[in-house]
Amino acid sequence: MIIVISGPGGVGKGTVVRELVARDHRLWLSRSWTTRDPRPGEADDAYVFVDRDAFELHASRDGFLEWAEFLGDLYGTPVPEVGDERDLLLEIDVQGAAQVVGRHPEALFVLLLAPSNDEQRLRLEARGDRPDQVDSRVAKAAEEVAAARQLGAIEVINDDLGSTVAHLESLIADRRRPSEASG
Ligand code: 5GP
Repeated sequence: MIIVISGPGGVGKGTVVRELVARDHRLWLSRSWTTRDPRPGEADDAYVFVDRDAFELHASRDGFLEWAEFLGDLYGTPVPEVGDERDLLLEIDVQGAAQVVGRHPEALFVLLLAPSNDEQRLRLEARGDRPDQVDSRVAKAAEEVAAARQLGAIEVINDDLGSTVAHLESLIADRRRPSEASG
């Protein structure tokens, strides 16, 4: 099964996804490649940080399941090396989600949202985004939400971490059930 988590910058996707993975060892979190520079204090293994040439070379060799340009940088999911016994968890933007859902309509596609625009802005500032990056990420949010709705994403508001994780766990359990019953 493939689980795609998308949502505007600053809604807390990273925290939610880390929590899900810590609690459910059947989930396998893909580590994306990006041409973006690391943020101050960002973990070295948050992404595979590469330059544009390395990214484009990997793309030309069909090394990505999906990739997209987001606010001037490239982001991509490497073709996963994981067995069928694990569920693939992707934290990617809506353009990438469209590619994955197009190819795998059975995927669980969740759009994570902040409780409000003000809260999104505060979270972006708190994680150290530059003021221009905060502005562009907030402006981009409306576009991403509209696109995800068109693709039929399930919307989850990330107000409280514990409740959000519990909600996502129940969506994942529901989606696993039919295949487990038949197989
Ligand atoms: P950030 O720069 O905030 O880490 O990520 C910017 C956006 O790129 C976020 O919406 C994030 O979910 C998305 N993103 C991260 N990895 C990937 C990926 O592998 N593919 C795509 N399409 N988007 C990604």
